[in-house]
Amino acid sequence: MTIVKSETKAVCKVSRKKTSALKTAKKSTDQRNKGLVIVITGNGKGKTTAAFGQALRAIGQGYNVFVLQFMKGRKYGEFIAAEKYLPRLTIRMSGLDSFVMRDHPAAIDIEMAQKGLDTARRAIMSGKYNMVILDEINVALDFKLIKLKDVIELIKNKPTAMDLILTGRYAPEKIIKLADTVSDIQEIKHHYNAGIKDRAGIEY
Ligand code: ATP
Ligand code: MG
Repeated sequence: MTIVKSETKAVCKVSRKKTSALKTAKKSTDQRNKGLVIVITGNGKGKTTAAFGQALRAIGQGYNVFVLQFMKGRKYGEFIAAEKYLPRLTIRMSGLDSFVMRDHPAAIDIEMAQKGLDTARRAIMSGKYNMVILDEINVALDFKLIKLKDVIELIKNKPTAMDLILTGRYAPEKIIKLADTVSDIQEIKHHYNAGIKDRAGIEY
């Protein structure tokens, strides 16, 4: 009887072990399949280009990437490259090719940023993309062109497996809290300070 009891106990222990091993395995699979929220912020150069490096890596692995560039109204090199060479990279911009005033944005700047957010939301919810990049969205938030609560809602409701990258200076604390990875690119030197002007292939 005692033997049977301890055998039962042993069986229970083994099955408990198995269940917890299964749980751990499931958790790690879930984590592998969980899309990341990555924020690239700071005052140094390299935020947008880092996000595009991530896009290139994803495309190489056969993934589809969508990029919405806030506050940009002309085709930068990455936009032209996507159109010409990268069918897996869909890129849209939502802005004018003019200066946005931080404290007094024009109605058109607000309207365009809102439209950009709507386009981004549709792309995110479409389920067509493995990765979505919202370029300069932190600046659009800082300039109050779009609402923080709308962006938070978008992050929280994104498809689970999708990777979401948010770039731009002044990332808000609430978005930093929600993110899995946050890189703060700091300026140590910038060539503008030495009088070197912006250049095709480096700045645009
Ligand atoms: P990039 O697009 O080259 O990756 P970025 O996204 O980090 O740069 P933004 O903050 O979006 O830079 O600024 C846009 C432009 O301002 C870029 O063309 C960049 O060269 C320039 N810039 C970036 N950092 C600095 C800086 N510390 N001082 C002056 N200009 C800067
Ligand atoms: Mg940028």
